[in-house]
Amino acid sequence: MREIDLAVIGGGYAGMACAAAAAARGVRTVVLDRKPAPGSKPHTTGILVKEVADAWDVPRYLTRKIAGVRLYAPGGASFDLYSPGYYFLATDTPGVLRWLAQRAKVRGAAVRFGEHIEGFKRQHDRWLIRPTDLVTRWVVGADGARSMVARQAGLGVNRRFLVGVEAAFENVRGVDGDHLHVFVDSQLAPGYIAWVVPGVSETQVGLACKANRAPQLNRFLQQLSKRFDFTHAVEVSRRRGLIPVGGLVRRTSREGVMLIGDAAGMVSPLTAGGIHTALGYGRVAGVALADHLLDGGPDPAAVLRRSVKPFGFKQAMRWAIDRQPPNALVDAMLKLGPVRALAQAVFYHHRGLMSRAAWRDLAAGCFGHSPNHNTCP
Ligand SMILES: Cc1cc2nc3c(=O)[nH]c(=O)nc-3n(C[C@H](O)[C@H](O)[C@H](O)COP(=O)(O)OP(=O)(O)OC[C@H]3O[C@@H](n4cnc5c(N)ncnc54)[C@H](O)[C@@H]3O)c2cc1C
Repeated sequence: MREIDLAVIGGGYAGMACAAAAAARGVRTVVLDRKPAPGSKPHTTGILVKEVADAWDVPRYLTRKIAGVRLYAPGGASFDLYSPGYYFLATDTPGVLRWLAQRAKVRGAAVRFGEHIEGFKRQHDRWLIRPTDLVTRWVVGADGARSMVARQAGLGVNRRFLVGVEAAFENVRGVDGDHLHVFVDSQLAPGYIAWVVPGVSETQVGLACKANRAPQLNRFLQQLSKRFDFTHAVEVSRRRGLIPVGGLVRRTSREGVMLIGDAAGMVSPLTAGGIHTALGYGRVAGVALADHLLDGGPDPAAVLRRSVKPFGFKQAMRWAIDRQPPNALVDAMLKLGPVRALAQAVFYHHRGLMSRAAWRDLAAGCFGHSPNHNTCP
């Protein structure tokens, strides 16, 4: 048996951020993931918000800056949203995941792929990780939306999901590379949106909808062929996955075990973005674990709980979106200044209506002095 301090189950965004922070401080850390290698079979579009770009030095060659959002109403009209100085990063997702794994290794974590963890068992004051040779003081469940760690430890589990599907193409023409193209259509993508992302080397086309519906990617592709040129397009990969949108799970820790990232429901119920929170809270967890394990600091799960911001407004918006307003109403609403201002707040203010900047944009949208270059053809 090999004795360690921390076993991180899941080598995605949350797991690698946590492991790197803990290992850098001297915690004996092992990351275990069932995939054959870091970055293989990604299930995410991988868009990073600017806040991630500011906090994490993701190498430039793995990213592509996109400043604008072009929002398409169901009837086909579109308008553009910008926020001065703000941008999103499309990413080479496998490349970013490999970079995160390498970063964790450099900081001292052992990273073991091809290890499907079946469970863990209490042995005195340690956990025995099955089927491995590891005995650990703490287990972190960073194992995604359907967390095995959560179920085994009797913690809270995600109950509300969107299902997302995406295809990546080479040689799509006519896609304006300065915008994320976002399609609102309650028939095509009930409960969420469809998208076209001019990525680093490919064009990513996807949609997500409520988990009780089958995502109609082929129907969306047919619609898109009238707008963009797919004549020479070659599909190079497909991704699919569940997005938990029910907010934080009820119980995220017990003695010697804690959940982070999707496993804990740390995903915006409104935008369904989870990479920013997976990285940020993963790092907080890693630092808190190091303080606790090395210096007898406070319970790391309590430290993490205190730092997690509730999704209050976003959860209320999720409720409204789940009601699926008919397309005719969506068309009418997207012509209104205040609704466009709300869209601006959703895309560009990740603290939502809790931020002063969001209120400034909302007021501008309502009273006609929008700082953005909204256009409606
Ligand atoms: C189609 C789609 C598009 C998305 N697009 C975006 C986006 O553009 N921007 C954004 O911010 N968010 C997006 N999200 C959400 C985002 O991908 C997740 O919130 C994020 O990946 C969460 O990271 P994580 O590390 O918590 O979990 P994951 O990325 O799911 O990583 C979990 C890891 O655990 C491993 N694992 C699971 N079970 C076991 C086990 N038993 N043993 C060993 N290993 C195990 C898995 O192999 C996996 O590597 C999208 C999600 C989907 C489905």
